[in-house]
Amino acid sequence: MLRRPASLTTLSVPFLTRFAPSPNGDLHLGHALSAITGFGLAARENGRFLLRIEDIDIQRTREEHVAHIVEDLRWLGVTWEEPILRQSTRFDAYRRAAASLLDRGLLYPCFATRSEIDAAVAIDPTGTDPDGAPLYPGLCKNLAPAETERRRANAEPFCLRLDMDRALKVAHAMSGGRSLTFREWTAEPGTTPDIIAADPARWGDAIIVRKDTPASYHLAVVLDDAMQGITHVVRGRDLYAATDLHRLLQVLLGLPEPIYHHHRLLLDADGRKLSKSLRHTSLRAMRAAGATPAAIRTTLRNASV
Ligand code: GLU
Repeated sequence: MLRRPASLTTLSVPFLTRFAPSPNGDLHLGHALSAITGFGLAARENGRFLLRIEDIDIQRTREEHVAHIVEDLRWLGVTWEEPILRQSTRFDAYRRAAASLLDRGLLYPCFATRSEIDAAVAIDPTGTDPDGAPLYPGLCKNLAPAETERRRANAEPFCLRLDMDRALKVAHAMSGGRSLTFREWTAEPGTTPDIIAADPARWGDAIIVRKDTPASYHLAVVLDDAMQGITHVVRGRDLYAATDLHRLLQVLLGLPEPIYHHHRLLLDADGRKLSKSLRHTSLRAMRAAGATPAAIRTTLRNASV
């Protein structure tokens, strides 16, 4: 095979992205925007595109939703490189990473229930995290080891929380005293990403391993992006603040730093969020009502200003 002379080869950076839906419902227009944005960027950048099913929540996962995701994406004209990664096959990797963070004193078990947390913050408010949930008031932060052991022996359910203060100190030391940042790319052709200061402290002692499954969204997503070699994370602006926490976990776990593009969300023509009925109508329902992929793309172009 003839080699192209070096001067004619593209010098563009490697580009590998993914669409990562959670199979607890059918895809709607917001998902279509995410999938089409990532797929379109991969095509434009001569890159690659993967599909990852984020099914750590086994209770809420339905196989029919997984099948529908595949079918709806194909209908939209979105294609990906096989195999599809299922997060439910990755529990051992999540367990190993959590165990290493626990060994390093960066996580601690928390037995508190939602109502105990609500009661504590009602008396002594802690403020809210970027998702609007109360910041963890520290109920189990300083449990005596014997007490933790007793409750574990009693099979009380617990999650593992990040000791945020300690994690920030350790990450700071690990990155040679540099402050934590992430790279946000507008996705305009030929542009380089902006460097954004990350502020993971606003998440407080976030849950890294949930009570009901061996990971959390945050832990699973950083481990899988690294394992799959994702160079560019393309996802909606609703996950922008989560990137602060993802960068912290990447530093603590020694994982590579992808470039992020958080795309705009769907808006009505008047700039408000897209009306509920349209936002929540599934692609399948729209297809059944006669919508075509071209019509969906037009709606997305007009609605995502
Ligand atoms: N599974 C997440 C969701 O459906 C997306 C994760 C990501 O793109 O980082 O919202």
